[in-house]
Amino acid sequence: MEREQILRALRDGNERYVRERGTELIGGVPGVVPAHRPVAVVIGCSDARVPVEQVFDQPPGSLFIVRVAGHVLEPAALASILYATRELEVRLVIVLGHQACGAVRATLAGTTDEALLPLVAPIAARLSTVGDEGFCEDSATRTNTRAAVAEVEAYLREVTPELVGLVTVRGAVKSLDSGEVEWLE
Ligand SMILES: [Zn+2]
Repeated sequence: MEREQILRALRDGNERYVRERGTELIGGVPGVVPAHRPVAVVIGCSDARVPVEQVFDQPPGSLFIVRVAGHVLEPAALASILYATRELEVRLVIVLGHQACGAVRATLAGTTDEALLPLVAPIAARLSTVGDEGFCEDSATRTNTRAAVAEVEAYLREVTPELVGLVTVRGAVKSLDSGEVEWLE
């Protein structure tokens, strides 16, 4: 599709949304701003094949989502998690990796593109912690996800120790073949 067609599709889509489902967050009360009450934080990859609400079949308004390629946790992403846990009192944080992640692949390929370093360097650092395991793509994906879980836990311990023991952080990996989510232990 050309850009103009894409924009038209987005405008049309929003018109349909407003007409058909625009009040779905507020129980059909037009003009009332809905309360922000997510039940979980999901830290996912930007990959378009991993639409978080759809993957978990959850309604709009239920998930507080942070999406960065390779779920790299830069400061604003971490602060977003802090906001959700401390201010919105969310008690479950999920890191959602996925099969065939381009960011993981670029890291394994040893890309030297400097502009991509903010993305691949943190993933390379995560993989380096387990040595050779990182060289198989599937295990690298799991390692990247587990490492992000550890990063979130360490961050919350440091920044908001009063929430230790109250917030659970879990890792999961989505298969693109089947759509199935594997929960990591
Ligand atoms: Zn990805």
